[in-house]
Amino acid sequence: MTDRPTDTAVVIIGAGQAGLSVGYFLRKLGLDPGNDFVLLDRGPGAGGAWQFRWEALRLGYAHRVNDLPGMEELGLSFDTADRHAPAREVVADYYRQYEEHFGLQVVRPADVTRVTATFDGFAVTFDDAYGDQTVSTQVLVNATGTWGAPFVPWYPGMNGFQGRQLHTVDYRDAEEFRGRDVVVVGGGTSAIGFLLELEGVAGSTTWVARRPVEFLEEQELNIEGGTRAVTLQDAAAREGLALPSIVSTTGVPRTRRIQSAIDRGLLVAKPMFASIEADGVRWADGGFQHADAIIWATGFRPELRHLAPLKLRERAGGVTVAGGAAYRNANIFFAGYGPTASTIGASRAGRTIARQIVSALSARGF
Ligand code: FAD
Repeated sequence: MTDRPTDTAVVIIGAGQAGLSVGYFLRKLGLDPGNDFVLLDRGPGAGGAWQFRWEALRLGYAHRVNDLPGMEELGLSFDTADRHAPAREVVADYYRQYEEHFGLQVVRPADVTRVTATFDGFAVTFDDAYGDQTVSTQVLVNATGTWGAPFVPWYPGMNGFQGRQLHTVDYRDAEEFRGRDVVVVGGGTSAIGFLLELEGVAGSTTWVARRPVEFLEEQELNIEGGTRAVTLQDAAAREGLALPSIVSTTGVPRTRRIQSAIDRGLLVAKPMFASIEADGVRWADGGFQHADAIIWATGFRPELRHLAPLKLRERAGGVTVAGGAAYRNANIFFAGYGPTASTIGASRAGRTIARQIVSALSARGF
């Protein structure tokens, strides 16, 4: 078990792709893991949010998963990883080896509940097996992703539904829905993944999306810098706006698996229902679809609750972040936020943020 730190120069909250990447570059720039910087993560093991994804999800089903910086030193690459094994196992295994190889010493499980400003930095309070602990730091990196903040839109009647409602985070496998009538809500690759898994298992599936789904010509979605989605996320972050939904701006790639489902007529999305009733959903034209379950594959928001005492949120609904740095406090950085909320973005954010941290620390005489 990694020792619980009490005082350090940099605390990184979250050890997913974004947090690990920052840790990798800080180490490369000469900081000592475990002493000069500390990674705190509330998960039970390595893998970031990937460790919680559903069993049937495989690497390469829709998006590309990019390597962590320096991963080639271990002879590992997601490009050559086992495409038949659950993504959650492959990613967790690679991250674990990465942490060990670079000695990143993640403290876990350590659930950060609150960060407050102090005279010369921050006090980070986290909850672990020993109760509440506090570590003080000069610089803070938030790399907490979105998995802990699932988003479900409100629809009239939803509280009276007698069946099961669940979000992507609660989905385990299709067998739970054998013979059931299932409504899947969402226009992204998670919703499509559920429809494919439920085909032939559920009694029926009905797909609804809040906006028309755009199928791209590409076979693989690579969320590279400069794409429309990244540009829109970056513009919103720079203005402190609530971040737009990624799905609404990327479209869905036509992998062979998705194209064949389109060809056999499985992937036809209806516009949203008007309301939810005890045993189904009511369409705007008065028609009715019986439902035993509604799966909300409706996305996520950045997980920032623990930062509330820092008052970073703007009236416009978001946090102002440019190039990974928070506008309201020069010693706070966001990795994996907005334009860097993808495996490639998170890897790149690590380098940019680590360099800024080293300058900030040297200005303080570190
Ligand atoms: P995460 O992997 O979510 O890691 C955040 C870490 O922070 C977690 O380990 C969590 O335990 C920890 N944490 C959170 N809150 C706290 C707290 N208060 N205290 C302590 N620890 C905390 N991107 C791609 O490039 N390709 C894909 O195919 C792809 N598929 C995706 C599928 C789904 C369903 C989702 C939701 C996202 C997908 N993404 C994909 C996005 C991608 O997973 C992330 O943007 C990327 O891995 C960067 O992760 P992260 O480190 O920011 O977040």
